[in-house]
Amino acid sequence: MKICSACLLGIKCRYDGKSRPNQQILALAGKEILIPVCPEQLGGLPTPRTPSEQKGSRVISKDGKDVTKNFRRGAETVLQLARILGVQEAILKQRSPSCGHGQIYDGSFSSSIIEGNGITTRLLKENGIKVITEEDL
Ligand code: SF4
Repeated sequence: MKICSACLLGIKCRYDGKSRPNQQILALAGKEILIPVCPEQLGGLPTPRTPSEQKGSRVISKDGKDVTKNFRRGAETVLQLARILGVQEAILKQRSPSCGHGQIYDGSFSSSIIEGNGITTRLLKENGIKVITEEDL
């Protein structure tokens, strides 16, 4: 059993109201239980929503709103779910400000990538949960 970014399973939870179905992940879902989560929705943000990126220790939407609290609430809810279900591993969407692992956008909304982890990824890793991305499969 693993936690999985819902957008990778074809759930339309992205900021633009679309999904990012990944064939390898969909195939994996036929063999083991993948628990779909979208930390940004769980943090109380609407879909569709204004895209956000990490800027230092904060998360800021493209229209300048500080949405750090929503991102943290979503991350904490995913961790809570993982604990309730005893999940030890997560497959998360690379480069997302919530779900990215090792790579995130730099906060300039110019598609520039820097080293870093999404808010949910960081919290899961701090709590001993292994995180990989769809690109590691
Ligand atoms: Fe997908 Fe994660 Fe973004 Fe939700 S927060 S749309 S699960 S990448």
